[in-house]
Amino acid sequence: MKYIFVILILAATFGSTVYAQKAVKHTEEAAYQAPDNMIKKIEQKTEAEWLEELGPEKYKILRQCSTEPPFTGKYNNFKGVGNYVCAACGNVLFSSETKYDSGSGWPSFFAAVEKGKVKEIRDTSFGMTRTEIKCAQCDGHLGHLFTDGPKPTGMRYCMNSASLNFVPKE
Ligand code: FE
Repeated sequence: MKYIFVILILAATFGSTVYAQKAVKHTEEAAYQAPDNMIKKIEQKTEAEWLEELGPEKYKILRQCSTEPPFTGKYNNFKGVGNYVCAACGNVLFSSETKYDSGSGWPSFFAAVEKGKVKEIRDTSFGMTRTEIKCAQCDGHLGHLFTDGPKPTGMRYCMNSASLNFVPKE
């Protein structure tokens, strides 16, 4: 009886070790097979690489949170039908269906194309409390979010033209 008990203990210990090894292996495989490796790739870019890829004007806005002067951006009065993607990584951010003339001098949208495409960050620079909007995929600075937008959301995504690329609807 005593031997059977010892054998049972050994079997349980050995069994759980094998199971634990399998679990680890599965996790490693899952991580390796993760389809969305673009985010990792973008995060690995150095500032020098971003500067080379974007050029000094876009780099200053997208990577250093600068703002283009109002009424100067190419999309301020633009009325094309299609989507606006992140100028740094191509992430689809806004649709022309939500674009409106805010009179601010910057391209304005009352909604992002999908929740999670952009991220909101509390910005206390320049003695103001604002909500900064960044691309959720590459962390590129896009603009700011205000609550004086039109219906149905009441939101104004006030964006830099330099942070966006327009892709016409086919
Ligand atoms: Fe991006």
